Amino acid sequence: MTDQGSRIKIAIQKSGRLTDRSLELLERCGLKYSRGRDQLIGFGENMPVDILLVRDDDIPGLVRDEVCDFGIVGLNVLEERRLQFLAEGRDQAFRVVRALDYGHCHLAFGYPEDGPVQSLAGLQGRRIATSYPRIVQDFLQREGIEAQVIEFSGAVEIAPGLGRADVICDLVSTGATLAANRLREGETILESQAILIRTVREVPAAKAEWVTRLLQRIDGVMQVRESKYVMMNAPVSALAEIARLLPGADAPTVIPLEGRGDKVAVHVVCRENVFWETLENLKLVGASSLLVLPVEKMLP
Ligand code: ATP
Ligand code: ZN
Repeated sequence: MTDQGSRIKIAIQKSGRLTDRSLELLERCGLKYSRGRDQLIGFGENMPVDILLVRDDDIPGLVRDEVCDFGIVGLNVLEERRLQFLAEGRDQAFRVVRALDYGHCHLAFGYPEDGPVQSLAGLQGRRIATSYPRIVQDFLQREGIEAQVIEFSGAVEIAPGLGRADVICDLVSTGATLAANRLREGETILESQAILIRTVREVPAAKAEWVTRLLQRIDGVMQVRESKYVMMNAPVSALAEIARLLPGADAPTVIPLEGRGDKVAVHVVCRENVFWETLENLKLVGASSLLVLPVEKMLP
């Protein structure tokens, strides 16, 4: 496991909004790691997988240059970099593997509450402050709007107050920052969440087996989040109705109950959350002794 060439490298954000959930995902895949003294690398102790802790903006480039095999980054950063690489003549710099369902936010316009611009129609000829100039420019072009895009690396929301811009386009999750700066949330131009990306080229054969295992485990972790194991006793006659009531259920396991010809035990994995209403409806069709358990691990 000491051979660098056979170790998988994954870039994640060093410290920020995506850090905890990204580390948690890898830990739930079974990875145990120790951090080096400079804290920039997490060395996998039980898998040939190392974690590189970097600024999120650097992650698409690290995957493009094959310094890392995988990266986890917000779609907003990914899209901005994709447009940049495209402009530089690299049409495919990385492959999107899957959306990871955390780090949700959206890129939206913010209009000063008492300003002259209150909709897309009013943007013509105006100044827009944003940290995502390429995404905004791309949007404006598609909408046929000509406006001046001004790049801000942070604190975009204060740009109108400073007289530097007429409107902003920035990431929003709750809208509290916009409201605190007397900005009204406008149109969304990108819905974002954490995305797993990988290199365009296939990994070397020495890494292939662990790459497959890692991706399967990530799938497993994603699936178990909502999955539940449901057990109940039920009349044989109600089996069809029960199958209809259970959300995203696999084929149930049906086990005879000792001395009860008319009743069976039913065990089933549901791939969606099971709500109280579902249990109440199951009871109505004759199920009893209902038990819902969280699923710890899953390998299809
Ligand atoms: P870095 O130092 O790594 O460059 P950063 O300041 O660019 O950090 P963070 O603020 O930690 O980045 O956000 C990282 C990512 O988290 C964003 O790019 C975005 O995908 C996601 N995110 C989720 N909610 C929000 C939010 N409310 N505001 C900003 N980003 C959010
Ligand atoms: Zn950043």
